[in-house]
Amino acid sequence: MTTGADSGSAPGGSAGPADRGPDPGRFRVAHDRRVWCEWAWTGAGDGAPEHGVLVEVADGRITSVTAGTRAPGDAEVLTGLTLPGFANAHSHAFHRALRGRTHAGGGSFWTWRETMYRVADRLDPDAYHRLARAVYAEMALAGITCVGEFHYLHHAPGGVRYDDPNAMGHALTAAAADAGIRITLLDVCYLSGGLDADGVHQPLAGPQARFGDGDVDGWAGRAAAFRPGGGHARTGAAAHSVRAVPAGQLPGVAAFAAERDLPLHVHLSEQPAENAACLAAYGRTPTAVLADAGALTERTSLVHATHLDDADVAALRTAGATVCLCPTTERDLADGLPRTGDLLPTPLSLGTDQHVLTDMFEEARAVELHERLRTHRRGTLGTGALLRAATAHGHASLGWTRELGATVPSMIPGSGASGDSGDPVLRGGEPQEPPRGVPDAGVLAPGARADLVNVPLEGAGLAGADPARCADAVVFAAASADVRHVMADGRWIVRDGVHALVPDTARELDTAIKELHA
Ligand SMILES: [Zn+2]
Repeated sequence: MTTGADSGSAPGGSAGPADRGPDPGRFRVAHDRRVWCEWAWTGAGDGAPEHGVLVEVADGRITSVTAGTRAPGDAEVLTGLTLPGFANAHSHAFHRALRGRTHAGGGSFWTWRETMYRVADRLDPDAYHRLARAVYAEMALAGITCVGEFHYLHHAPGGVRYDDPNAMGHALTAAAADAGIRITLLDVCYLSGGLDADGVHQPLAGPQARFGDGDVDGWAGRAAAFRPGGGHARTGAAAHSVRAVPAGQLPGVAAFAAERDLPLHVHLSEQPAENAACLAAYGRTPTAVLADAGALTERTSLVHATHLDDADVAALRTAGATVCLCPTTERDLADGLPRTGDLLPTPLSLGTDQHVLTDMFEEARAVELHERLRTHRRGTLGTGALLRAATAHGHASLGWTRELGATVPSMIPGSGASGDSGDPVLRGGEPQEPPRGVPDAGVLAPGARADLVNVPLEGAGLAGADPARCADAVVFAAASADVRHVMADGRWIVRDGVHALVPDTARELDTAIKELHA
């Protein structure tokens, strides 16, 4: 099953109020659909929504977006606010099995990691497919239409190869198809068990044996052979971190991505201990090691980028790299606060990472709210900038771009700061043209993939919101449970808060997770 390839026979474009009952089994042909949005965030007003937006869809793509219209009789009507689909740019699907089990009490990033390894040791391709299908269905319920899966659980326990060495990758891409969302499978090179304080790389040990491919050539050979089926999936490259990939092997990962024009994702400076060990090993920061390896480019996403010095920040900005922030994970693991304002106009993306929550509203607002805690100042990022991180920038960072020609100037990456709330601190200069085309999704624009996230405003949590500023209300006050309808590639995958393909998402999650802890 692939997104955009609807299997049902009901004609599209039929009229119908947004509040009709759950319709979990009904697929619509993605032709000539017309959706009228009471309010929609198009980016044209930065953080402000537009009223009466008619979105026309054919073959899974938006064909027109017209604001200021009355609802045509043949359009589906969405009340409240409608947004483009969210991109969850950093996910480890199996970490969802730890939700609620690791956050209370003490411990550290490193003790959390030991718990995570125990779960990892229980997974095989079938179990991982069951878990990830439910995890991705939960994401769909939260408005996520594309996930970047940072995948390193490659092999069987002990490092034994499956008959198909990419069996786990196939399990993940199949799970995304089952959940009706797109996936970029970021194939992670993971060669070392860590970098100690003396700057010595440790061999993979215990559960880590599953992650490794021996050396960068072994990784590249396996990754190059991976061919995900279906138009919903694409691949990307990743180096786990400078802890897990020695400096001498990093150029091979960078070259692999460059030769194939793939996104390249890396965990960067999440913990001070990583910086200390890296300085001990190389006399350079992790950012400098990546730069010297040719791994800092406009295709690169640096995940976390928490502990950076001034030279690191300058290097990221110069490279045009994206920084992927995962605030709910970073605060759970006591990582620290990133220098978000200093990074602008670096494009920001968002990830739910370990899935302590699956809520892109919370990830988005936490970027700004954490920056307030760090700087004692409000308004570094406004609603428009936070929504671009959750949508267009995330999709672009995962390789979902298309050629320039249908540019939507207000939505392009690089426009980091916003002028839509109070007295914003505009930082970092002028927005820049994206070097690699425009986002292919995460924008309400002709030519883009038809991903829609509808959030009604009449529930108790959002009641009383100023309709003309409803995007502010949603970004700063909504929760994933407020999402009512979700369209991905022209197909409704969530109706009335129920997943159309995985109707009992909670039960599937419960079953898949408890079997790992049994
Ligand atoms: Zn991660």
